[in-house]
Amino acid sequence: MILQAGPGCRAHTPLSVLAAMFRHLAEQTTVPVVSHLDHGYTIEECREAVDCGFTSIMFDGSRKPLAQNIDETAAIAELAHGAGISCEGEIGFVGYADGEQSAGTDPDEAAQFARQTGVDAMAISVGNVHLQQNTGNYLDEPRIRAIEKVTSVPLVIHGGSGVPDAQRLQLARSSNICKYNIGTELRMAFGSALRDAVNSDSSRFDRVAILKDTHAPMVQACRRVLQTMN
Ligand SMILES: [Zn+2]
Repeated sequence: MILQAGPGCRAHTPLSVLAAMFRHLAEQTTVPVVSHLDHGYTIEECREAVDCGFTSIMFDGSRKPLAQNIDETAAIAELAHGAGISCEGEIGFVGYADGEQSAGTDPDEAAQFARQTGVDAMAISVGNVHLQQNTGNYLDEPRIRAIEKVTSVPLVIHGGSGVPDAQRLQLARSSNICKYNIGTELRMAFGSALRDAVNSDSSRFDRVAILKDTHAPMVQACRRVLQTMN
């Protein structure tokens, strides 16, 4: 199980608190748990995550020129490996729904990136888009296959929420894709449950009471995703 703290989450909760919370939660279960920094943008932020006890970090240099992305990611992979933890990088650029456009991952650049950075996992841009609220966003399988031909590094799909269940399952079984990020799908389930909880009783004001009603729907949404991957 992977618990991720993305930039939006980190803007409101210090890394040290998130790291301690993830560790506490991980210790309650027998399933192996990864606590992961999602989209670290600076070496300072990645170093802080390592120092706080995260067990995996992603450095996102995807907006930078290739050589700079490779150099900075390699330095962060070295930092992570020195601490005995894993590192994810991004090659190509995964865009945002109603925002920045994607730049598809070039297989040769992916091979070079994998070789020269030493990352343990590689986020790729193959038709996936962040913050995609509608499913039906099919991934470009020929491009995935071309990337797999030139590197064996495990692949990560950010914006996995938009990918149809059947394709997620098929590629999870048959490709090097090892992680789908599904934050939008889960946040949509949360938002809908929260709206219902607030609207159900206008006299309620206690946040704990209101948030309690979002728990079961979130469990159900997670369960649905996992069951469709089986
Ligand atoms: Zn992402």
